[in-house]
Amino acid sequence: MTRVAVVTGANKGIGFGIAQHLAGSGMFSDVILGCRDEQRGALAAREIANAPSNRAFVYSLPLTIGDRASHSSFHKAIEERHGKVDVLINNAGMAFKNADPTPFKGQCKPTLDVNFKGTFDFTEQMLPLIRQGHDARIVNVASGSGYLSQLRSKELQSKFSSPSLTKEELFALVNKFESDVMNGQHIEEGWGNSNYGMSKLALIAATKIWAREEAINGISVNCCCPGYCDTDMTSHKGPRSPWEGAKNAVIPATMDSPPSGEFFSDFRVSTW
Ligand code: NAP
Repeated sequence: MTRVAVVTGANKGIGFGIAQHLAGSGMFSDVILGCRDEQRGALAAREIANAPSNRAFVYSLPLTIGDRASHSSFHKAIEERHGKVDVLINNAGMAFKNADPTPFKGQCKPTLDVNFKGTFDFTEQMLPLIRQGHDARIVNVASGSGYLSQLRSKELQSKFSSPSLTKEELFALVNKFESDVMNGQHIEEGWGNSNYGMSKLALIAATKIWAREEAINGISVNCCCPGYCDTDMTSHKGPRSPWEGAKNAVIPATMDSPPSGEFFSDFRVSTW
């Protein structure tokens, strides 16, 4: 039986580690790395493919999260080659460095556009293929920075965590955060003070919506925090290796009878 896994942002860091784990697991016939730089994607795929532990056909395809045309061409390529996806791991993500001079307002849209809106749009495009999968799973690499209580307003906390939150309501909330940031009033309006944190909080909320809506299609949807890892994103300050951090995404992607709508951290189900 074929089993197809897609990992976004897999040319380096945690995504590379996730792809290595999946390729070596013996559970997948095909592991596809979605990478925005074709050359670095091809190099990463070759490295994983040539490792003695590899047991899958590993290759890369161009994918820029946040670029709808790129989402569509990636979807088309997978549809033509495989007709389904069994596991999608949304790992691609970005964070401005602390030392970056871009003002808070200027960091808001680019962060939300990749970590939340782009990831959301890409997942929605891929869903028809995931519904064709067997024992299909989606894992969103979020972060502990997406914790619910960063929202100063209890009312906002209960809106984001409502079990009846819809995709439209979630987008309206995120757009309100963005406009409050632009107007310099996000603190008075009860939001947290982190664009990255909000992007990951919204991704966690989306995970729970997909988990609810896709249960009927037998798809489990979970999210995770890889932990503080030694990658380019953290300027290599994190103590955990990307290979080790990757396990937080690999566990819900490969475990027997996975839960759905959960947040994995430190290799187990944790609280939001
Ligand atoms: P990283 O080393 O910076 O790698 C990020 C990966 O995402 C790279 O492959 C990058 O591609 C790709 N990427 C970024 N923006 C993209 C876009 N618009 N389209 C396509 N690919 C894009 O970071 P990492 O530490 O491995 O992070 C992986 C995930 O874990 C992220 O979602 C991050 O938020 C999350 N996370 C990391 C930590 C940590 O301690 N490292 C902690 C919590 C959560 P390029 O190489 O082309 O830039």
